[in-house]
This record gives sequence, C-alpha cells and structure tokens, in this order.
Amino acid sequence: MEELNELRAKLTWYENRNKQLESELYEIRDFIENAATPLHWVNDRGIIIWANQAELDSLGFAKEEYVGHSIRNFHADAHSIEEILTKLGNDEVLHNYPARLKCKDGSIKHVLISSNVFRKDGRFIHTRCFTRDITDIVQQGHRKDELLEKLEESQSRLFRSEKLFKSIALNIPNTLIIVIDKEHKFMAIEGDLMKKMGFDSQDYTGKHPAELTPEKYEITKYLYERVMAGEKFSIERKSSAGEDYMVHFVPLKNEQNEVESGLIIATDITSIKEAEEKSAKLAAIIESTDDAIISKTLEGIITSWNISAERTFGYTAEEMIGQPILKLIPSDRQDEEPRILSRLKSGERVEHFETRRLKKDGNLLDVSLTISPVKDTSGNIIGLSKIARDITERKQEEQRKNDFVAMVSHELKTPLTSVTSYVQLVLGRLKKEGHEFGVNALSRADLQAKKMSLMIHDFLNLTRIEDGKIDMNKQEFGLHLLIEEIADDAQFISTKHEVKLLGCEHIFVYGDKDKIGQVLTNLLSNAIKYSPYGGIIILGCQKSDTSVRIYVQDKGIGISRADQKRLFERFYRVKNEKIKSISGFGIGLYLVAEILRYHNSEIRVESEEGKGSTFYFNMDTIIKVSQKSI
Ligand code: ADP
Repeated sequence: MEELNELRAKLTWYENRNKQLESELYEIRDFIENAATPLHWVNDRGIIIWANQAELDSLGFAKEEYVGHSIRNFHADAHSIEEILTKLGNDEVLHNYPARLKCKDGSIKHVLISSNVFRKDGRFIHTRCFTRDITDIVQQGHRKDELLEKLEESQSRLFRSEKLFKSIALNIPNTLIIVIDKEHKFMAIEGDLMKKMGFDSQDYTGKHPAELTPEKYEITKYLYERVMAGEKFSIERKSSAGEDYMVHFVPLKNEQNEVESGLIIATDITSIKEAEEKSAKLAAIIESTDDAIISKTLEGIITSWNISAERTFGYTAEEMIGQPILKLIPSDRQDEEPRILSRLKSGERVEHFETRRLKKDGNLLDVSLTISPVKDTSGNIIGLSKIARDITERKQEEQRKNDFVAMVSHELKTPLTSVTSYVQLVLGRLKKEGHEFGVNALSRADLQAKKMSLMIHDFLNLTRIEDGKIDMNKQEFGLHLLIEEIADDAQFISTKHEVKLLGCEHIFVYGDKDKIGQVLTNLLSNAIKYSPYGGIIILGCQKSDTSVRIYVQDKGIGISRADQKRLFERFYRVKNEKIKSISGFGIGLYLVAEILRYHNSEIRVESEEGKGSTFYFNMDTIIKVSQKSI
C-alpha cells in the first residue's frame, strides 16, 4: 500500500514536472518566436522550414510567402548563398558571414549571417541561422565613401581651377588678376604685373591686404567695398613709374544673386595710351594741314576725310564717308584708280602723281597725289591713304612759263635757222677756197648752232607735250637709214668718241620719223655727254620676227639704282660731283619717254655706276619683201 502511495506521489510529481516543463517550453518558443533577432531554419535542401516574426518583418514577407520556399530566392547574390549552403553542409560554423537579401519591396538588405547545423544521430535536421541587419552601417559606409569621393573630386576641381586661374593670369600679358572674398582677403592673385604693381613673389592666398600692404589697402579699400556691394566699374591708374593701368572691378555672384567675391583685373595700357596720344597728335596734324587727306578701303570706299579735303573738293565729311572715291574722278580718268591700286599692291608707293579731280561744283582741279598703302600689324594691305595737294596755282604758273618758253623758242628758231644757213653757205665757200682756219672756226660755229637748235626743239616739244598739243606725223620709214644719218651727225659732236652701228640693217617701222630721230639724237648725245673720257658708243639693233630692240650703249659714268627710277621725270637731273660740270635741263629723257609713249613703246635703262649704261626701246617692224627674192 505504501508502495502504491509512493508510486502515486511520484506520478503526481512527474505530472506536475511535465506541466512545468511544457509551460517552460511554451515560454521558450514564445520567446524565440517573438525575439527581436531574426532567426530561421533551413533544411538540407535549402528550403526554409521555420522563421520567426522578426525575420519575416525584416524582409517584409508573410509567413506563407517565406516559409516553405527556397532560401536561394531571397539572396541577392546567387554565388554567396551557394557558398553558405556548401559550408554548412560541410558542418562549418558561420560567424557574421556577409550577404545581401532581397526584401519584398525590392530593396536590398545587407546582413551578417551566423549559423550552424543541427544534427540528430548524425542526420542533418536543419540549420540555425541568425541574421543581423547591417544595412544602415553599410549605407553609412557608402555615404562616407561617396562623401570622400566628392571631397576628392572637389579638391581636384579646386586644384584644376587654381591651375587654370594661374595659367590664364600668367598667359595674358601685362595683367594682374585678383579675387577677393567678402572680408577683402585674397582668394587668388596672379599675373606678370605683380611685381610692377607692388606685390613681391610671396604667396598671398588667404591673406588680408591690411596685413600685407596696409597703406595701399587704405587707398584701395573703398574700391573693394564698391565691388563687394555689387558695383561693376573700371578706373584708370598711373603708377609712380609713369605706367598707365586700367583696372576693372567685377562682382562675382552666386546663384542667389549675392556677391560672393570680387574679381579685379588690372592691365597695363601704357602702350595703348601712347598710341592714343600719337594718333591724337596725328589727327591734329591731319586736321591742320593744307593737304586733303583721305583714306579709303581697297574697294575704293572713303573711310576718312579731313577738313582740307572739305575745303579742296567742297564736300563735307558726312557727304563723303562711305561714298566711292570714283565720285571725285573725271570720267576720262576712271581707269587711273585700278592702275594705282595694282602698283600699290606690289608694295610701291605712288608719289606726286599729277592728275585732275572733280570738285563738288563740277569744276576740275589740278592735284598732285601721294598714295600709300595702309597695312595691318601682319603687313597685309587693308586700305589706302591719299594726300591730294591742290596744284592749280602751280599749274597755272607752269602754263605761263610754258607759254613764255614756247614763245621765246619760237622766236629764236627763225633767226637761228638763218644763222645756220649763212654759216653753212660761207663754210661751203671757205672749203672750196681751202681756207683752213675759216673752215675750222665755222665748223665749230655750225656745231654749236646745231646744239642750240636741238635745245630749242626740245623746249618747243616740251611745251607742246605739256599742253597736249604735240602732233605725231606717223608714216612707214626705213629705221636703218635714220639711224645711219643720226650716227653720222653724232660723230661730229665729239672727236673723243667713236659711234659704232651694230645690226641695224633693213629695218622698216611705222612712226613719226622726226620724233624717233629726236629720241635717238637725245640718247646718243647723252651717251657722249656722260662718258667724259670718251670711248666706243654702240647704236645697235636686235631684231626678232615682228619687232626690233634699239639700244644705245656707253661705257660712261653709269647711273645708280635709285636714280634709274626717276630719270624719266621732267627736269630730273642726277645730283653728283661727276656731272656737276655737264650742262643740261633734265628734259631730254622726259621727252624720249613721252615720244615713245605716243608710239606705244617704253624707254628702259640698264646701268651700273662707273661701268656704263644701256638705254633701249622696242618698235614693231614692218616686213618688206626684198626685190631679189620675188
Ligand atoms: P640732261 O642730260 O639735260 O640733264 P636728260 O633728261 O637727258 O637731261 O637726262 C637726265 C639725267 O639722266 C641726266 O642729268 C644724267 O644725270 C642722267 N643720264 C642720262 N643719260 C645718261 C647716260 N648715258 N649716262 C649716265 N647718266 C645719264
């Protein structure tokens, strides 16, 4: 009985103990189910067989969406879950293994997984996995990385912009660039004017001008204040060394339109100032001169017109600027402009070109033009400047002189002709009588009279040419005959010289025989005159199919290059010691050139000082079939 009671008592104890254990187990399950740490179990095939509420909450799934499904579906990286499963299958214990899980809302959670396998009798029952959510930490890390990256980027941008600033400031010549902040501290300062403007080579960045150059700051402070108050302005400054500076102040604003810093750019404008002064002086000269000064484009459009131009031509600057220059050119001279332009384009300057221009009132004006190309800094011609001098009075004066010379020459011609004929008459008789002295004396008188008549001829021709009254009496003639005649006459002028003919046979040309004779006489008498020591003078002809080149060559004093250019101008005589004693008026070659111009030909010269000269010109030839060849 007692045994029975004992058994009953034991049974009651076990029952109570069982109840107690059941309630403890329930508490533990409840504790695990509701624990804050996410927990789940996975079987050996990777299927989730249990998960607590914290696990479901952290990923946002309902139990049925999670439990019963493969754990692989919830990992973002396929290879990492395979690794986890393999490690667990090999009974490895995982501690804080990093993984990324997919949440229901598509977001990714960064977790650390700690897990081991629960086995019973060696059989894989399930894994026991704790996950620790470290998304916040990872994101913070990412944010930190991002911040660091941004910091680095802005640092390198700052570095780059500092370098850029430096190179801009240093590459703009004669400049100083300063950037100041709200307190007027230097944020940047650079430029090749630093020293000149009183800054030595130390690093000023971040420093305040009040500490560095207090006196200077006192003067500039109010300017810094103005720019920081948002005013954009420029001032001119003169340095103690006399240099001129232009200083620009520019407020730099942020997106909210607040002034954040001030940009100060100083440039050395000394050379610009000097150029301005120079051009002001030039402008004053241009305005006060008596000459009309006009500039125009290469297309002939007037770009400037001074007061004298107004006076000379009668048009105001307003009327003429923008107008074509052709307005001033008489209709029969319109081809002059293109000719002048082509000479200028080849770099030549056209000086003292005498012509006529039209005034506003329709009257013609005699002008002397000097035209020069206007070039840019690279030497390209960008326009033309023209100085026109009113030479009407001079022309009238010349006309009076011409009339006088023409009259005197004409009056001299007749008595001289009778003197020459009497001399020749007496000379003939004395020759017959064998009166040696008389023949000698009268031959000289005859030669001098011929020289005089030649001179009178030249004067008359000059005045006729000037007046445009010269008549050309053109006809076909044998040039070879003329050449022989003139060479014979020339031989009489000097005994020290020998005139030789070369290659001038059977040449027929069309022209004014007397005038061409005058050309040849002039060239020959010059060759004799300017070879004071005598020698051979060649009068030669070089024939080609349709033309002949006629040349006169001497071994005389020669002509410098500079003089060669001006020889054919009226009254031009070379000025040097050697020819001081040789008489002349400087009209012979001018007449030669003019006469040849009437024959569509041109006189040219090749010469070397001390060696001699060759004057030559070309004429078209007429082909004459000789009697024998018919
Ligand atoms: P002129 O002989 O009356 O001075 P020209 O018009 O004939 O005038 O000649 C102009 C100038 O050219 C001369 O003064 C002379 O200096 C130069 N000249 C002309 N022909 C020759 C020559 N054959 N040799 C050297 N100089 C010459």
